[in-house]
Amino acid sequence: MPEIAVRMTKRNHNAFVHLLGALESQGFDLSELLITKDFKEILRARPKVVLYSFFTEEIWGNLPREVQLLKERGALLVAGGYHAIAMPKHTLNQLGFDIAVVGEGEEVLYNLLTTLKRTGYRITPELAKIRGLAFRLNGEFTFTGFAKVEDFWRFPPYPESVRLISPIEISRGCPFRCYYCQTPYIKGFRMRHRPIDQIVHYSRRMKDMRYITPNAFAYGSPGAILKLNKLEALLRALQPLRKEGRRLFYGTFPSEVRPEFVLPETLELLIDYADNRRLAIGAQSGDDAMLKAMHRLHRVEHVKRAVEYMVEYGFEPVVDFIVGLPNETAESQRKSIELMEWIMRKGGKVRAHYFMPLPGTPWARCKPSPLSEEMKRFLGRMAARGKIEGSWGIQIELSKRLQKLIEEFYEEPMSYHGSINPVC
Ligand code: SF4
Repeated sequence: MPEIAVRMTKRNHNAFVHLLGALESQGFDLSELLITKDFKEILRARPKVVLYSFFTEEIWGNLPREVQLLKERGALLVAGGYHAIAMPKHTLNQLGFDIAVVGEGEEVLYNLLTTLKRTGYRITPELAKIRGLAFRLNGEFTFTGFAKVEDFWRFPPYPESVRLISPIEISRGCPFRCYYCQTPYIKGFRMRHRPIDQIVHYSRRMKDMRYITPNAFAYGSPGAILKLNKLEALLRALQPLRKEGRRLFYGTFPSEVRPEFVLPETLELLIDYADNRRLAIGAQSGDDAMLKAMHRLHRVEHVKRAVEYMVEYGFEPVVDFIVGLPNETAESQRKSIELMEWIMRKGGKVRAHYFMPLPGTPWARCKPSPLSEEMKRFLGRMAARGKIEGSWGIQIELSKRLQKLIEEFYEEPMSYHGSINPVC
């Protein structure tokens, strides 16, 4: 029976596929792992170690019960993912995990598993030599530093010996530093990219080629500028795979693009080289003052320009908004309503999200603003007509839980670049 289990879920699938590729490429034999989305299979196997990866929103789901059942069976529990990185103490002390992986996991996980195998799956001082871990040693909270994998493309996105695929992470990091977003603080402010030949090589395994990136049009650049030649080189290199019958989806699920990168030249590339005719952008607010407050570094005019271009070039705009932002007034919300209405009149789709204070971000301690009566009526009306998508209703409840969690268990988060300056 395998001694190590990987608790895959729908939400951590992509992350674990990439991590398994990294583990295998460093010499770890994946046949030693039980990799499954079936929790009962893990219970039956009674592994010595179980690997988890989850977001903060998931800590109110099945997770506590699973942890309890596995602890009763004496398993050592390892947590990775955004929650463990931003709140390692909470992950250990309140959620009951034994080890939190803090930072980028490719090398940490390999070092951790090989060390645990050698030391009998126990927490020993040996673990203190591995950067990127938090655990309790003789009752003391021990943190070994934030793990970084600057050149993440050293590791393949997929394993060879296990048939698992996911959209490929082609770029990592983001320079824009929006105050509500975990990506730049955990993955760094400089965008890094997988080389084109590697992307092409692994894209062969996908039927529909899809990619993970914070801003698909920034491929090849440090992140804040457009490098059209690099973007075109990538898309051109994928054309032989399209000719073999695969479809190429770029700048749409599971990634998106920044509004100011939506230009005639980037849209023309998609027309020539990609199959999607919808494109996802983040607008977040219709009020320039709010965009400034959240450090979006674009204005409403960029969103409008992007939508106009998309419509002109035959793309369906899918535009994300966040409502209930910190210090958002009824007047700010009215401006967002006006922009949403304008987008829908143009034929675009709107996705509305309620502000959630995520740990590890500068806005972690900021409070959401209540929705104005006008906003509530507007969202309800539009949702009933099928014009607006989004889960703002559920997110209002989640947001309350997040506030309570952060009030009670706030931790000064470490990040890729050191400590994070809280804004609230
Ligand atoms: S929201 Fe997008 S642009 Fe802003 S920091 Fe996050 S990934 Fe970057």
